[in-house]
This record gives sequence, C-alpha cells and structure tokens, in this order.
Amino acid sequence: MSGRETAARDLVLVLNSGSSSLKYQLVSMATGGRPAAGIVGRIGEAEGRLAHSGPSGPVVRVERFPDHGAALRAVGEVLDAEGLGLGAPGLTAIGHRVVHGGDRTEPALVDDALLAEIERLVPLAPLHNPANLTGIRTARALRPDLPQAAVFDTAFHATMPEAAARYALDTATADAYRIRRYGFHGTSHAYVSRETAALLGRAPAEVNVVVLHLGNGASASAVAGGRCVDTSMGFTPLEGLVMGTRSGDLDPAIVPYLIREAGMGPDEVDELLNRRSGLAGLCGDNDMREISRRVADGDVRATLAFDVYVHRLRKYVGAYCAVLGRVDAVVFTAGVGENSAAVRAAALHGLDGFGIAVDPALNGAEGHGARLISPAGSRVAVAVVPTDEEREIARQTYQLVTGKGGTTSPGEE
Ligand code: ADP
Repeated sequence: MSGRETAARDLVLVLNSGSSSLKYQLVSMATGGRPAAGIVGRIGEAEGRLAHSGPSGPVVRVERFPDHGAALRAVGEVLDAEGLGLGAPGLTAIGHRVVHGGDRTEPALVDDALLAEIERLVPLAPLHNPANLTGIRTARALRPDLPQAAVFDTAFHATMPEAAARYALDTATADAYRIRRYGFHGTSHAYVSRETAALLGRAPAEVNVVVLHLGNGASASAVAGGRCVDTSMGFTPLEGLVMGTRSGDLDPAIVPYLIREAGMGPDEVDELLNRRSGLAGLCGDNDMREISRRVADGDVRATLAFDVYVHRLRKYVGAYCAVLGRVDAVVFTAGVGENSAAVRAAALHGLDGFGIAVDPALNGAEGHGARLISPAGSRVAVAVVPTDEEREIARQTYQLVTGKGGTTSPGEE
C-alpha cells in the first residue's frame, strides 16, 4: 500500500455480513490490488476468530465478538494498525453485499429509505437480509459520514424478461406474495460475463454467454449482450442446478406428498431440500474433490451423484443455448467450475453439434487466471474465468459514489 494510493482516495472496503460471520476486503480501484482482507467467524459465540492478512502479514485474534459491531470494531483496529482503518484518508466508500434487492436492477446508496426497503424484503431472504442489514447499520454507526452502497445479488437478474421471470402460477397469488424468479449470485454472473467478453477481446454488448457458477451453491445464467435473460435460481436459491446440499429442480408435488405421506412439517421439508439433498443427499459428500476421489475408486453412489449433477448441468447448457439462439462462450466459474476439469469435460461432452467442445490438454492443464479451454477455431469459446464478487462489489460501489470506473480487471494482489 503506497502513500500515493492512500492520498488518492481510491480504496473501497467491501463487507459481506453473514449471520455469524463478517468477511471484508479492501480493494484499490486505482491499481486493482487488494491491500487487506479477512474474516471474523463465530460472531456471538464464546470464542470467535478474526483472521486478517494485510501488508504486515497475517494477524489472528481469538476472542469473543458479541455482535457484528464488536467484529467490525476489531476489523477497524487491525486495519488501523496497517494505516488502513475506517478513518484512513484513502477510504472512499464501503460496499455491502446484500442478497435480496427485490426488483432493483442497480446498486444503491445507503440511506434510511433504502434500509427500510431492505427490511421489507426480509421475508424473501430471511437468513441473509437481516445479517446484511446488521452489517450496514454497524458500519454506518462507525463512519456516518462515509458513503455506503448496497450491491444486490439479485440485481443483475432483475432485467430478465417477464417470460423468464414469471412462474405459471395464479397471477393474483403470485403478485400478492411477490412470488417470481429473482435469481441469485448476480454479482458473480455480471463480473464473469464481462470478464469473458474481455477474454474474447470484445465488448460485453457484442457477446452472448452461458455462465456456469458452480460453487457450494450453483447457478447458470444466459447473458445476452451483457444483460441477463434467464437464470437457474428462482424465488429462492433452491431452484435449478444440483448443488452441494440443495436439490435444485424437482417436481413441486413432492412437497405436499412428503407433508401428507411422511408427516413432515414445512421446516423439515425446507431442511431436507436445502441441507440434506443435492450431492450430499445422493452420496453423503458435498465436496466435489471428495466425490471425484470416490468416483476414481469406483464408488457407485458417488458416481451416481456425479452423473446426476452433470446431467442437470448439460440440460441447462442446452436450454440456455436455445434461450440465447447464438452462443459465443460457455464459461465455468466458482470452486467446482474453476477447479474440476472432470466436471467441465463431462458437462460439455458430445456437444460438438452445437459447436461446443473442450480441449482435453487445455482443460487438464494447471491454470489460475481467465483462460480458454476450447480447441483453437471453435465456434463457441469455452472458458474458465475465476469469479471475484468482492472486486465487482467494489467496482459498482466506486462507480456509484464517484461516477468513475476505476480498474476493473484483477490487479496485483
Ligand atoms: P461457495 O459457494 O461457498 O462460495 P466455492 O465457490 O468456494 O463455494 O466452492 C466450494 C466448492 O468448490 C467446494 O465445496 C468443492 O466442492 C469445490 N472445489 C474446490 N476446489 C476443488 C477442486 N480442486 N476440485 C473440485 N472441486 C473443488
């Protein structure tokens, strides 16, 4: 961190507040670098843990952080020790990840009206929005003068055409309960689709991309000319692809069937579908590394779990090719997408007829940055592009607060 950067007021602090955790990153918009980052875990428990990395090396603090206020004050202290605290002259703004933004299509500056609006959306994201709100309120109390922005996971998808966003439900019921397809992981889909255009040396407005965000949660999106036209998560993050512990798509009649036949209550069904299904439900493991090891050992359940996961993925690739009409790139991102050559190869195997192919050597090669894995001259590029939600939140926050773009591509870490 140089003095020039500090004086330039180009730093954005990105905060991602979970129910018992607070992740933070300081991003320099001038260089694309990330001077400091860390996480406070087990907030509210007897023993919490702050793990920080910054210019002077790693710092770990194990102590009780009674609430998010205490956690953020501790983060402020470790950042202060680096000259990068909440009072640092270089800090331009704080950007908050907020999961649900309803029908908002853009990030928004935080004020009382926005907080009330995020509060009204709590029934749609009961686990996430309250934690996000706590983070915003805490940061506001510590630096009331500093501009803060909320960057919504749903925003990138809020431009979906009505035909993709509507469920074929009774309209009055759907409208009364705000039931529609919102989509999630939007910050990642926005960032990755734009970086894919950059990798192809083209403007985002010129390219159509299928983005496959495969982490613990997983979602696909169809992005036409920089605009999301369909995505696989829906009213909640449960819909769509097979995930670590979530079922993804299933016949909705299974829910009343379980309630009637298995005597389950709504919370039990919710827990079954969100926490005991997906890869974990199929084979007992939710981590693709472990599943791949078991597949290599000939384990039948792990092989079935892998096959179900890949089959669903292929279905969405095919569906989104049809939604887009012309596809320029299929791109893999997040933990599984960036690291599992086996999933990438299996998901796109046999799609040559669509102009989609994976080069085994490129796919299997060790690599970290954005890269192409399709054979030279392919009609459709296949790419791996590491996602970076914090960088995207910083970029959107900086743009909202200053009207300037800043560096958008990964810089020196
Ligand atoms: P989250 O959705 O929690 O942000 P990530 O995007 O970090 O998660 O993805 C985490 C998942 O990525 C892990 O559960 C694991 O299944 C998968 N993963 C990470 N590294 C590898 C790897 N080398 N090979 C296969 N899968 C991996």
